[in-house]
Amino acid sequence: MRMSSYFLPTLKETPSEAQIVSHRLMLRAGMIRQTSAGIYAWLPLGWKVLQKVSQIVREEQDRAGAQELLMPTIQSADLWKQSGRYEAYGKEMLRITDRHDREMLFGPTNEEMITDIFKTFVKSYKDLPRNLYHIQWKFRDEVRPRFGVMRGREFLMKDNYSFDLDAEGARLSYRKMFLAYLRTFARMGIKAIPMRADTGPIGGDLSHEFIILAETGESQVFCDKQWLDMDVLADNPDANGDLKDFFTKYTSIYAATEEMHDAAKAPADLVTARGIEVGHIFYFGTKYSAPMGAVVTGPDGQPVTVEMGSYGIGVSRVVAALIEASHDDAGIIWPDQVAPYKVALINLKADDEACRSTCDGLYARLQDAGVDVIYDDRNERPGAKFADMDLIGIPWQLTIGPRGLKAGTVELKRRATGEKLELPLEEALAKVMA
Ligand code: ATP
Ligand code: MG
Repeated sequence: MRMSSYFLPTLKETPSEAQIVSHRLMLRAGMIRQTSAGIYAWLPLGWKVLQKVSQIVREEQDRAGAQELLMPTIQSADLWKQSGRYEAYGKEMLRITDRHDREMLFGPTNEEMITDIFKTFVKSYKDLPRNLYHIQWKFRDEVRPRFGVMRGREFLMKDNYSFDLDAEGARLSYRKMFLAYLRTFARMGIKAIPMRADTGPIGGDLSHEFIILAETGESQVFCDKQWLDMDVLADNPDANGDLKDFFTKYTSIYAATEEMHDAAKAPADLVTARGIEVGHIFYFGTKYSAPMGAVVTGPDGQPVTVEMGSYGIGVSRVVAALIEASHDDAGIIWPDQVAPYKVALINLKADDEACRSTCDGLYARLQDAGVDVIYDDRNERPGAKFADMDLIGIPWQLTIGPRGLKAGTVELKRRATGEKLELPLEEALAKVMA
């Protein structure tokens, strides 16, 4: 992407309406634009990050054996009357009437719809287990939308639903998702800690919230200090095994939200912090399958009501949470895995012929190599260019100026550490392509 033609409306001033750093930086970096309370347009830079985050979520769901589909945002109220949640959901649900006076709603979640789809097609135990997911916009008419996309009214969620013949199978599905969640967040370069949680209105008997520690988190959380050094990706259990040892290991290290915290059980080395909920998983048995009649024929010919679980990740909230967890005074510091661009190519003197042709050549080479690169080819002050790249948080900055070019060198800066190296051009290129 060339900066000279990029739709990147960055702001110089700090927007006064934003109370937390991620909201301020997302506005300043031109990632989002509020269109009404709690509803945001994702501008090109923000959309790119949202897609990177979605893609990691998708890969880990696929790896765990879940299958992607796409359900609509608009649902019929009838489904929710079957489960009994239509009245119970209250004012958070956006209710819509169509031209034929049919009651519709903008889905806040999809348990009812997926149960209906499942029961239409699956009739035999032989077709179990199944795990289905989608990444789709949700609407919840929050009383107090705030903190930008952290607590929006319209937000992007990955939600999936598991269907099993019995409780044992359902618990295995739950453990698979537990692993998938740990891996998903670790791959994004953040630490999300699974905490025993209240099952709330979704119901059920087993539930974990995945929480990122950050000062601006909305809830108080408690965890064993050990959590801070856990490396889930290094710990690579057999995903096709029963995952019992793995689950026991990770659930026996203390971590609890305020509602579940028990000082008597807490370890001596306790961390008390604020947390952001980025994911939530539930095993709730037959809460929806029973009222909605999701029944299969079991091995003995008898009808069995399927056991279900549901699993959510707040994909759009994750973008804000990543910024809360990784920024400095100059702006965002994207972890490499989710950065909108891996490399910023900065031409210090756009009107210098040698600089321009070198940069154009590098830009083409990086693109050909499949590296996501943003190229500042504008006629601007160097200071403004550096400030913009720091603000939007690009992990590697490759700067080409007339003086260096004469000596055959370029400057390579690592955003996260601020470390700068003068390197021969090819060496710098090899480093960012690695
Ligand atoms: P919260 O306690 O933050 O209101 P929740 O428990 O109601 O969230 P879930 O039903 O568990 O939310 O939804 C799954 C995930 O969707 C949450 O873990 C969170 O990451 C995300 N999410 C929920 N509500 C919002 C929202 N208003 N804006 C952005 N993301 C949200
Ligand atoms: Mg929740």
